[in-house]
Amino acid sequence: MSHDHKKKHLDGFIPGHLLHRIARLNPGDLACLQTLLDTEKLYLKGIKQQGNVRQLTAGGPGDRKIYDAENKQSLPGKRARFEGDAATGDTVVDNAYKYHGEVRKFLKDIAGRDSLDGKGMNLIGTVHYGRNYNNAFWNGRQMTYGDGDGRIFRTFVIRGVVGHEMAHGWTEHTSGLEYYAQPGALNEHLSDVVGALVEMYADNIMAEDFHWLVGQGLWADGINGRALRDMRNPGTAYDDPKIGSDPQPAHMDDLYTGWSDNRGVHINSGIPNKAFAEFAIAVTGPAWKAPFDVWMETGFGSNRVGNKAQFQDFANKTLENCRAIHPDLEDKLRAAWATVGITI
Ligand SMILES: [Zn+2]
Repeated sequence: MSHDHKKKHLDGFIPGHLLHRIARLNPGDLACLQTLLDTEKLYLKGIKQQGNVRQLTAGGPGDRKIYDAENKQSLPGKRARFEGDAATGDTVVDNAYKYHGEVRKFLKDIAGRDSLDGKGMNLIGTVHYGRNYNNAFWNGRQMTYGDGDGRIFRTFVIRGVVGHEMAHGWTEHTSGLEYYAQPGALNEHLSDVVGALVEMYADNIMAEDFHWLVGQGLWADGINGRALRDMRNPGTAYDDPKIGSDPQPAHMDDLYTGWSDNRGVHINSGIPNKAFAEFAIAVTGPAWKAPFDVWMETGFGSNRVGNKAQFQDFANKTLENCRAIHPDLEDKLRAAWATVGITI
């Protein structure tokens, strides 16, 4: 995929490099190939649309609007469940409604933020998108979820996906980290952190008890994998002949320097992911409190990194913010970055 890294994040939850690999490993599987083509098409369409995005979505009461594409590929689809509507009985619709609400609550309670744009943007989502569609994406305006083909992927309406994709909206409206190389891996990292925290906060799970997985429950039965990524143990999330193995590095010594995946945005995010997980686990307790205070200020706050930040810049900025907000945690922060080979 030839992505212009200056454009906003309009990619799917399953990155192009992984879709390519799965299509290669499953040459007879049309669903995999079709998803790859559709994702590319949607990406290009999203770029064309993005001029209108802010106009269309800015402001509002922060309502949930879940639509059903009824296996077609037009957005947004038929009204399925809007704010205040009763449960529909379709688990996918009702879960999307619930998870969108969890993201909204997390933003409000933890960040004091009125929806993704800070101005009450409605939280729109379309489920049952296409047939056997193996992806989910945020297009700057709404979320879209496939059902998965049942052979490699299950439904994409799972918590980790909703929080992760929506957090890209938050990043877009704040630090605007370029979707390329290390700044892009930090952009991906922030989405993984928020996705994990939404789940921890909703279920009141402490850092030391959390699974630290991104996209848990996504792989179909028979695929050897726990999730799409493992924040605490990057590179160990999956390993199967149908999908290949998890390429994430857990240390700067193994930093990916190739050209694939916009120069490794979903690959190298393993490094800051591990630093955050180790920090939160060392601090113990609710990761959405002190650990995220430091990360939120660094990624989204008034003393945040610039849009071209490298890992070292981000780590240095966490130290600055840690000293200002939680000076007692400085040693734990240094130790966490040291586990991935970054000295602050
Ligand atoms: Zn992402």
